[in-house]
Formats: sequence, C-alpha cells, structure tokens
Amino acid sequence: MTNWTRLTSFEPQAKKTETWIYTNAGTEKKHTVDVTFGKPVDILSLKLNMTEDYAASVAQVKSSRTALFASKDLDHLQQCPICNEDADRAKEIFSVYGAPYFQCPSCSHYFIKARPSREALEHFYGSDKSYQKTYADRRTTEIRVQQVAMPKALWMLSQYEKEFGKKPVRILDVGAGSGHFVYACRQLGLQADGVEISESGRDFSKKVLDVELRNIDFITELDKLSTDYDVITFWGVIEHVPHPMKMLAAAYKLLSKRDGLVIAEVPRWDCFGSSLQEQFTDSIVRHLDPLGHINCFTDSSLATAFQHNQFNIVSAWYFGMDIYELVTQLAYARKDNKIIEELKRLIPTMQEDLERARFSDEMVFAARPAR
Ligand SMILES: [Zn+2]
Repeated sequence: MTNWTRLTSFEPQAKKTETWIYTNAGTEKKHTVDVTFGKPVDILSLKLNMTEDYAASVAQVKSSRTALFASKDLDHLQQCPICNEDADRAKEIFSVYGAPYFQCPSCSHYFIKARPSREALEHFYGSDKSYQKTYADRRTTEIRVQQVAMPKALWMLSQYEKEFGKKPVRILDVGAGSGHFVYACRQLGLQADGVEISESGRDFSKKVLDVELRNIDFITELDKLSTDYDVITFWGVIEHVPHPMKMLAAAYKLLSKRDGLVIAEVPRWDCFGSSLQEQFTDSIVRHLDPLGHINCFTDSSLATAFQHNQFNIVSAWYFGMDIYELVTQLAYARKDNKIIEELKRLIPTMQEDLERARFSDEMVFAARPAR
C-alpha cells in the first residue's frame, strides 16, 4: 500500500516549499515540491455562455450520460488504473447519472469502474458535438487564451527555469484540444507543437488560431514524435483516458535522457466542489461528470502515478472553480439566474481562500525524470 506524507508550514500562503514523502513496502522517497496556490480568473466572462443556458446543459448532460450508463455496452475495469489493485476491492462512493465512482483502497484513486465501450464512446462523440463546444466557442477564444492558457504557459516556463536554470526550447502539448495552450506558448516565442485525436479540435485550432495540431495517438504512435522536446504537457487529459499510466510512461520515454519536465493537470477529488456535487448529483455538468472524468485523482494517487513512472515531483499548483460551482448550483436549484448576479462577487475571494486551504478542485503537478 502506498502512503504519502507532507511536511509543510502552518500558515496559508500563496507559495510554499514542501517535502512530500512516499513510502511503500520499506521504500522511502522524498520530493522537494514548490507549491503555488491560486490562479486569478474572471470566470464569469469565460463561462458566460454556460450560465445563460445552464438548465439546458444540465438536461443534455443528464439525459446523454444516463442513457450511456444504462446501456449494456459497458467495459468493466478489472484493476485500479494507477496501482493495479484488484478493482473488486474498490469501495463504492456515490453515483452520478447511474455511474458509481469507486475508490481504490491501496492508492486512494477514484474511478468509474463500468465505462461505456470504445464503440459506444465513438458513437457518442461522433454524434454529440456539444462536448467540444465549451472549449471551442469562438466568443470565448481570446479570453481563454489570455486567462487560462497563458497563465499555464507562464507557470510552465517558471517551473522549467527554476529546475534547469534555462528556458525550454520545444514544448509538446498532448491532447491539445482546440490549440489554446500551443498558441499561448508560441506567443511567448517558444517552439510548441500539439497532438489531438479529435477532428473538431484540430479543425478549430487550424481555422481560428492558425495552429496545426497533429493527429497522433500518444501511446500507440509514440515513434512518430521527435525526442527533443523539453516539456510535455497534459492539461486536463489523463483523467479522460483508460490508461493514464501509459500516458506518463510514454512521456518518460521521450524525456528520460534530457533536462525534461512533464506537467499534468487533473480534477482533484478532495475539494469543496466534490462535497457540493455529492449533494447535487442530479445537476452536474463539470468536475464529477462520469463520462469525461472516468478518473478523479487524489494528491496521493497523482503523486503515485508520477513516482511509479520514475518521475521526481518538483512543483504543484492548486486552483479551481468550486465557488463558481456553488453559485451556479444555487441558481439552478432555485431556478433563478438573478442569484448568479447577486453572488458572483463572492467568487474571486472565496475561491482564493479555498485554494490557500488546499480545498479546490484542480491540481497540476510538474516532475522531471529521476536519474
Ligand atoms: Zn489504486
């Protein structure tokens, strides 16, 4: 059984240096981790199109997920996707749209055990265009680049410079979506490429941002990629895939012989957003959406995923949308969008407080290959 301990100061601060200690069957490994708390974002200008029709989103997400998970066409996981523990030993936590989340007793990872088959998913994504819509809406593109992608690119740069004392030259973004991060990196003068298997994402990226993404499966077509990338990023990717460990193993193969950094952003289970969604399982459109997020990480399970793929964790970043979630859930429950207008002023400061208390719904870890 894996176990993680953290040495940290009492004070809530925007930045800290901590020691994270991994122990497993007599093995002990220490990681020195620079932690950043918080990421200011004008969430309502970004998500405005979503609050306009939140009720329509709920109806669409609920009916599509309920139908998919009620079908017989499900694949049943035999092992924990992170530590390979027998999936029969996992404990059921709660269900969203007929899909129970389970927790692994060995590494603490959360996952959906019975997932729609590959065929069912291809049919779903082929006929349902709304999944990419939030990310690919033209109206929000510039806001998304400046408020979401650019802070990530700058954080990536500063972590690389801290670690290696120089700037990275080549960046590879895996699961690049609609190309925002690659675009932001190029604005900073970096050589950035992206791979994306979704055709609609690649089309948008080309048409709107003039960024050509490559149609490459990162696990099975790794040999098509250059081995001189300095940074490999997975922004909101490994929670969607059946084999997150294979993604990190592939990143290790590309980076192991260089001054390389791997970065992964994932949804985080232990947060205010999850405890809220546990009470509102019938109106979830993000975070614990069991179709997109078949994996939900704990600090331990993400750290274990890095440790077991021979990476040393060097940085972490905590932020989220928990208070936005609270405000939209209240507005939806009361069927009154004025609540959003009245309460949106709470979002920036309350979210910042949650982040400093390490109780927010997203996290990013950066790591370098162990030598
Ligand atoms: Zn596990």
